[in-house]
Amino acid sequence: MRVFNFSPGPSALPLPVLEKAASEMPDVNGTGQSVMEMSHRSGDFKPVFEKTESLLRELMGIPTNYKVLFLQGGASLQFSMVPLNLAAGDKPGVGKKAAYIDTGIWADKAFKEAKKYAHAEVRASSKDKAYAYIPSAPAPAGDDAYYHITFNNTIVGTKWDSIPDTGDVPLVSDISSCILSEPMDVGKFGILYAGAQKNLGPAGTTVVIIRENLIGKAPDWTPALLRYDIHADEGSMYNTPPCYGIYIIGLVLEWLKNLGGVEQIGKLNREKADLFYYYLDNSRMFYSPVDKKFRSLMNIPFVTRERDEAKKSGLETRFVKEAAAAGLVNLAGHRLVGGMRASIYNAMPIEGVKALIDFMKKFEG
Ligand SMILES: *Cc1c(COP(=O)(O)O)cnc(C)c1O
Repeated sequence: MRVFNFSPGPSALPLPVLEKAASEMPDVNGTGQSVMEMSHRSGDFKPVFEKTESLLRELMGIPTNYKVLFLQGGASLQFSMVPLNLAAGDKPGVGKKAAYIDTGIWADKAFKEAKKYAHAEVRASSKDKAYAYIPSAPAPAGDDAYYHITFNNTIVGTKWDSIPDTGDVPLVSDISSCILSEPMDVGKFGILYAGAQKNLGPAGTTVVIIRENLIGKAPDWTPALLRYDIHADEGSMYNTPPCYGIYIIGLVLEWLKNLGGVEQIGKLNREKADLFYYYLDNSRMFYSPVDKKFRSLMNIPFVTRERDEAKKSGLETRFVKEAAAAGLVNLAGHRLVGGMRASIYNAMPIEGVKALIDFMKKFEG
């Protein structure tokens, strides 16, 4: 029996996608091979790759002056590639200025990595209130090489409510946990990147969407595999790309298109999130610690009202355990923040959210 899986990542995939992949496992498109067995340079893999890229372009409305790259290394490798390619100097340690907004644990990791190659600075932070809000974004400095934000903060459950205007300074965003969750104006960004395992497909593929004029700025000492220009020139095939992941992403995008695309999933996601926040806001036992203006549609952390008491009595641990026994799995909060968290990505049906609310009402007694 399938469970309702609230995992923050890797996370649930649509059942029709899994079933199609299963049926095509030994023989895809009449080639007599699994996607896993094909040369990435073969005519058999070409249509698989092209389908994924063209669906992503169509669904996200990616302008033609942007390249789409399918890389490895997760969003975490982009924490290094962004500064290396946009702000690193002639030798290590003498980079250009780069602005970072500190909205959580991933944003902080991105900043710390950038400091190794760029003159990275945190220009605003919400750390003072345990990252429960998004700080207002100061204007960039004229000599910033780029301006980095984390659009949806997976661990603390916040989301930017608008795209900051950074003028001529390229805006770079980690969209690992919100890609394709609602319409997004790609043209406002210089680079968008996302690990696939939240809302796109299996772990192991990273999508990078980059405006062409930002390609080709890496210093000579940059490792080949970390250069956007090499990946762009080689069509993501400088070395073997994550072929099977790219194929599954294609199936997920096809599923999303059949569902009505990003506008439609955005409405569904809003409906799911509204339902759950409404319940939390009226619960006697649970609440959302996040500022209402910046609530994530995808990751909804929640805690018990009498937290110290609850910790002593093991209430939250018992909640997670009993929920799992009822088929509602992976509801524990991030190991660094505790509490609970329901991740309700695109593949989570509204029935899953309703089942969770019903369970929580009963648990409250
Ligand atoms: C999960 C996540 C990451 C880390 O992704 P990896 O692919 O494991 O490197 C980074 N940023 C955000 C916003 C995430 O949700």
